[in-house]
Amino acid sequence: MLLPKIVQTGKTVLRTPASSVTPEQIASPEVKRLVTTMTKVMRAAPGVGLAAPQIGVPLRILVMEDKDSLMSKLSPDQRKIRGRVPFPLTVLFNPELQFVGEEEDTFFEGCLSVSGFSALVPRKRSVIVTGLDESGLPVRIEAQGWPARIFQHEIDHLHGILYVDRMLSRSFCINDEAAQWLLKPVEDVKKAFGIGG
Ligand code: ZN
Repeated sequence: MLLPKIVQTGKTVLRTPASSVTPEQIASPEVKRLVTTMTKVMRAAPGVGLAAPQIGVPLRILVMEDKDSLMSKLSPDQRKIRGRVPFPLTVLFNPELQFVGEEEDTFFEGCLSVSGFSALVPRKRSVIVTGLDESGLPVRIEAQGWPARIFQHEIDHLHGILYVDRMLSRSFCINDEAAQWLLKPVEDVKKAFGIGG
């Protein structure tokens, strides 16, 4: 099966709020096929999340998954400060986001639709996400650390928001340059890029 290309920034589908799906749509073969395709596209990229608008479909659907193999460059300590832990494949329809507390963490983040770049993005540390699962039933997921970051990033996509709208813009890097900063303490990175605290 030929996988669809990931839509890159500049296409207005990435800037348009996506539409809710009904339980009937969730049960339909078309939407089941779409979810299978989204999962394949995410894994092939590889990425840790994908929202339907990223393959040109303006519906409120996201997939996410994080695995040890995707975090192999991080030491145990680096995983710990990021709260980066494996997260099973999760499919969510019409997700809604709630912040838990005010604590934020700032780390480099990238996007498959802004290919080749990264920047520091502050995100809330802890969230609750509600929505419908693949059976059309309500689900509630509590997430912290990196999974919470992924949810915030993907749900932003469903509102037509990209991380570049939230980034500390002075830290915007091509990935070749970002590589040397990714794992440095964020305070050192901010200082190097002239970002006041
Ligand atoms: Zn993205």
